[in-house]
Amino acid sequence: MTDDSTHKRVLLKVSGEALMGTREYGLDSDTLLRIATDVKDVIALGHEVCLVIGGGNIFRGISAAARGMDRAQADYMGMIATVMNALGVQNALEKLGVPTRVQSAIPMASVCEPYIRRRAMRHMEKGRCVIFAAGTGNPFFTTDTAAALRAVEMNCDMLLKGTQVDGVYAADPRKDPDAERYEELTYHDVLARDLAVMDAAAISVARENGLPIVVFNIHAAGAFAQVMRGEGRFTTIIEKS
Ligand code: UDP
Repeated sequence: MTDDSTHKRVLLKVSGEALMGTREYGLDSDTLLRIATDVKDVIALGHEVCLVIGGGNIFRGISAAARGMDRAQADYMGMIATVMNALGVQNALEKLGVPTRVQSAIPMASVCEPYIRRRAMRHMEKGRCVIFAAGTGNPFFTTDTAAALRAVEMNCDMLLKGTQVDGVYAADPRKDPDAERYEELTYHDVLARDLAVMDAAAISVARENGLPIVVFNIHAAGAFAQVMRGEGRFTTIIEKS
């Protein structure tokens, strides 16, 4: 996209869990509004923002498959769950006056647009926040992979992964307070050390296309804008030259 380093096109991946707030499942309206405010603030800085929304707060295919359900069938349910979340995020953004479009990889003509790459690009050029729903549209994938794929398709400058903590750690810092935190990693580091940040398919797509990934804490209000200014705490995953 733009060569102007101050104005970037970025994709933010928001997991389903991030939308639950402190609830056990489903959506928390205060959390939705807080995340929407963070997105609005980044757009106000002059950036173009698109989103991929997960569905783990409602349905996760792999856990249903573990309980005996057909995996592909369960995954379709998971993808439909992401559409519900995307509509929730759209509602929160529009309450704040941010123009949005939801595009679903599984066509659902009466609730949102189907995913059409060139149309999504056009929306972004017009300043709309495009929310990509239904993952890749294929079972056996995750919304992390969808995020990497859409970020590459949309010529994004980087993919931001909002997580529960402020970067990538060697182990879960909520369980191991001494776990090492990384400032910068290569794609190879993530794969070789099996770091639980994004699945291998997502990392591979990013690596093959030189897409930098930035991991930060989605729960810290204002962190998204801080990261876009190069401030605050985050981990960058990039190929070192
Ligand atoms: N899913 C899928 N294909 C995709 C993306 C998602 O089948 O391309 C299904 C899968 O069952 C997954 C569920 O949708 O468990 C919810 O997505 P995900 O687990 O990635 O959500 P998150 O962990 O980000 O909340």
